[in-house]
Amino acid sequence: MSRALLSLGSNLGDRLAFLQSAVDAVRPAIVAVSSVYETKAWGVEDQPDFLNAVVLVDDPARDHWDWLRTGQAAEQAAERVRELRWGPRTLDVDIVTVDGVRSDDPRLLLPHPGTPERASVLIPWSEIEPDAVLPGHGPVTGLLAARPQDDRDSVRRTSLRLVL
Ligand code: AMP
Repeated sequence: MSRALLSLGSNLGDRLAFLQSAVDAVRPAIVAVSSVYETKAWGVEDQPDFLNAVVLVDDPARDHWDWLRTGQAAEQAAERVRELRWGPRTLDVDIVTVDGVRSDDPRLLLPHPGTPERASVLIPWSEIEPDAVLPGHGPVTGLLAARPQDDRDSVRRTSLRLVL
């Protein structure tokens, strides 16, 4: 079994279509997809808001490297354009967790670093998996409760829908 949580983000072009393209790339393995959220950009703040969602996938035939390759292929297919670190991008796919795998290989850090501080991942994750635990960090709901209110408020649920 290889169960992974993928985080999707887009803040350039047809943002919903780019998120949808990532969902399409993993469709046979999908267990659950979150609502679509709109999130203020951080790091470089003078850029369009992101659309974010998370996808829970499961495929016994794939390991964590396969999930990375799948995510990177989806990014490339979206003709990812990014000139600035934390700047606008058509599609960003992060591998948040794969089973309980811990990795400090810079090509694939697991769990994805920064997850405990990212309300844009924690909020959609807790929507589809309320009992989820981030390996090495604890329950996702607890991590979310520890975030400042303005951070949580910066992630707004939208009525946009991804098609399964
Ligand atoms: P970014 O530009 O932030 O999307 O980072 C892309 C780089 O991060 C790629 O070289 C990946 O190999 C590397 N990377 C390390 N850990 C992860 C992860 N958990 N998910 C996605 N990319 C990762």
